[in-house]
Amino acid sequence: MHAKVVVVGSLNMDLIVRMPRFPVAGETLAGHGFATAAGGKGANQAVAAARLGAKVAMAGCVGDDSNGAELRAGLLAEGIDCSGVATVPGVATGIATILVDDAGQNAIVIAAGSNDEMTAERLADHDGLLEAADIVIAQLEVPMATVEATLLRAHELGRTVILNPAPAVGPLPENWYSLIDYLIPNESEAALLTGIAVDSPESALQAAQKLLANGARRVLITLGSQGVFYADGERHLHLPVEPVVAVDTTAAGDTFVGGFAAGLAEGMPLESAIRLGQRAAALAVTRPGAQPSIPHRHELPA
Ligand code: ATP
Repeated sequence: MHAKVVVVGSLNMDLIVRMPRFPVAGETLAGHGFATAAGGKGANQAVAAARLGAKVAMAGCVGDDSNGAELRAGLLAEGIDCSGVATVPGVATGIATILVDDAGQNAIVIAAGSNDEMTAERLADHDGLLEAADIVIAQLEVPMATVEATLLRAHELGRTVILNPAPAVGPLPENWYSLIDYLIPNESEAALLTGIAVDSPESALQAAQKLLANGARRVLITLGSQGVFYADGERHLHLPVEPVVAVDTTAAGDTFVGGFAAGLAEGMPLESAIRLGQRAAALAVTRPGAQPSIPHRHELPA
């Protein structure tokens, strides 16, 4: 039995509309395709960890609507423990409206809805989940107070704490750094946290050094098709990837985080866990949608 990964975070229904170009204010435009897909950074990372082999539980909130019921059913179908997912009456489930134009660019509007109901008090109601965890993962799509409570409690319990500081919202509170075992930003998040423009392994080293100086124990910066840059207090390394042609990068970062956590949960050495996350993310970018794009372990090339 593998160790248990607990994700505290968001669940969203993604509403995806394709169109020739983005409309301007006041304009009505004919789109040419609509799809819904399960998403939300928290749920995506939970699904990735589960599909890649970990035993997973999720803590979060949905509304008492059809989207919430569908998102919960989707996680249960992955074998994820949803005892920490509350259904909040009278609140809409979180949604992300994603407009995609013919050039493949996207514009996204998120209505957090029920994700804002994932309070520190609700987390305390599910303390047993954190107690039973080995690895705890958080992101920034639920209230900051809840993220802080998650980091504090998981650290206090001696769990391995992963923070994916996404979406990029601004500097992290200084007291968070020492609570985090693995801080995993992408290029733009690393830039926002450090003020250093990150677009290469060299600039990632500079940014990582700043994050380590802030108190983080280990930093992994995802660099898209350039792979991952890792640094701790003693060493740093760049783990490149074989670039693939991206069809839809939605959930690439989430797949990496979930896959990396699944590798750690299995007892893999650090570099093997990073490779597992990278192999899974490379496959995810070749497929459309958030959760639909996340591969199962058996799909990964040897
Ligand atoms: P998103 O926000 O689009 O979900 P992200 O910006 O959080 O993604 P990225 O750094 O773009 O995350 O990608 C995460 C990981 O996915 C990378 O570290 C890499 O391992 C893998 N990856 C991303 N793009 C490619 C690509 N074109 N080819 C191969 N691997 C890729």
